[in-house]
Amino acid sequence: MTTEPVTAPINAWAVAQQQFDLAAERLHLDEGIRRVLREPRREFTCHFPVHMDDGSVRVFTGYRVQHNLGRGPAKGGIRYHQDVSIDEVKALAMWMTWKCAVVGIPYGGGKGGVIVDPKQLSMRELEALSRRFFTEIEVLVGPERDIPAPDVNTTPQIMAWFMDTYSMHAGYTVPGVVTGKPISLGGSEGRNEATARGTVYCVVEAARHLGIELKKAKVSVQGFGNAGSIAAQLMVAEGSSVVAVSDSTGGIHNPNGLDIAKVINWKKEHGTVQGFPGAKDISNPEVLEVECDILIPAALENQITAKNAGNIKARLIAEAANGPTTPEADEILWKNSKFMIPDILCNAGGVTVSYFEWVQDLNRDHWSEQVVNEKLKEIMVKAFTETLAIARREQIYMRTAAYMLAVQRVADAMTMRGLYP
Ligand code: GLU
Repeated sequence: MTTEPVTAPINAWAVAQQQFDLAAERLHLDEGIRRVLREPRREFTCHFPVHMDDGSVRVFTGYRVQHNLGRGPAKGGIRYHQDVSIDEVKALAMWMTWKCAVVGIPYGGGKGGVIVDPKQLSMRELEALSRRFFTEIEVLVGPERDIPAPDVNTTPQIMAWFMDTYSMHAGYTVPGVVTGKPISLGGSEGRNEATARGTVYCVVEAARHLGIELKKAKVSVQGFGNAGSIAAQLMVAEGSSVVAVSDSTGGIHNPNGLDIAKVINWKKEHGTVQGFPGAKDISNPEVLEVECDILIPAALENQITAKNAGNIKARLIAEAANGPTTPEADEILWKNSKFMIPDILCNAGGVTVSYFEWVQDLNRDHWSEQVVNEKLKEIMVKAFTETLAIARREQIYMRTAAYMLAVQRVADAMTMRGLYP
């Protein structure tokens, strides 16, 4: 009998710092700024009680981290997941800082999370947890200070509860305190699809650069939440064939293409993509390695590692997820001439339309979906083009190029502001 060697789980915060160090080195960044940007500005932890349906009281742990406030208020989602940790939230907050800088929107970076599997809660418990958690983080948030949004397992309904909780305490309605709200409450047209749409705008640009014909391309998507399921649909709309998808329970594969609309209905009915008629059930790691031209990781961190990076067949990788690739895997992908659209660029469509939502809320305005999508496209294409130009000029990997662009922008803002006092 052979046993797998026990390896320590990969720490997202260590990964984020490593990625930053690489860019800081290449930019010859000032030592002082380097020290500041390597750590989050503020970390907040709370343990808060919730009345459960069975009459008991449970205590949950939640976090809000503000990584940087140099270019504007903190911005970033709140995640509900059983594996949330302070280090994960720190990494995600740092990535938000770079993401907002890559696309040039006036925000710093923040992130929040609660350690909970929301699928185990009733609607009433979910509402109680959400309202109490938002109350706890009210010492940090506000439309001029820190603006949360959806992330893994958090929805427009939860954003509505957040907004209502904050507004009840303020005594008046404050729509600009969270984004990703339902349209009826000051949410933006196009916000729900924005992460996936931004990813596909980048994929279209990258495919043109690489000479990949999207109408003949095969696509594999890991993750079937808000980003993954909509990205799959949008790739089908581009004429591509989606050959594999997965969710947290596992994946499915059909080399001749999956009917994504039917897969969505199947998942609604059965709670999993697995068992879909005409497709073969495969594991989540296998979804990354199937024969395809474009791979879209749209699930969680640390999925593409030194172990499996060498098995990836896709020529183009588009990171709709945050942090799906480790630095060791990046080296392998770069050596294997894979073209990477890194997370801080690839999934920035979500926060970009969050910015549009916030601007609309502050101005008591509402834009059409067409206006939103046109503005989103302009920003995504510009950020992609700028990143690609750096990558070509410096002969470097696209992630390093995106980091150089972002870190320089943040460092410039901090240098101009100077150190207080
Ligand atoms: N949670 C999303 C992200 O990781 C969106 C954040 C936002 O809209 O503020 O980018």
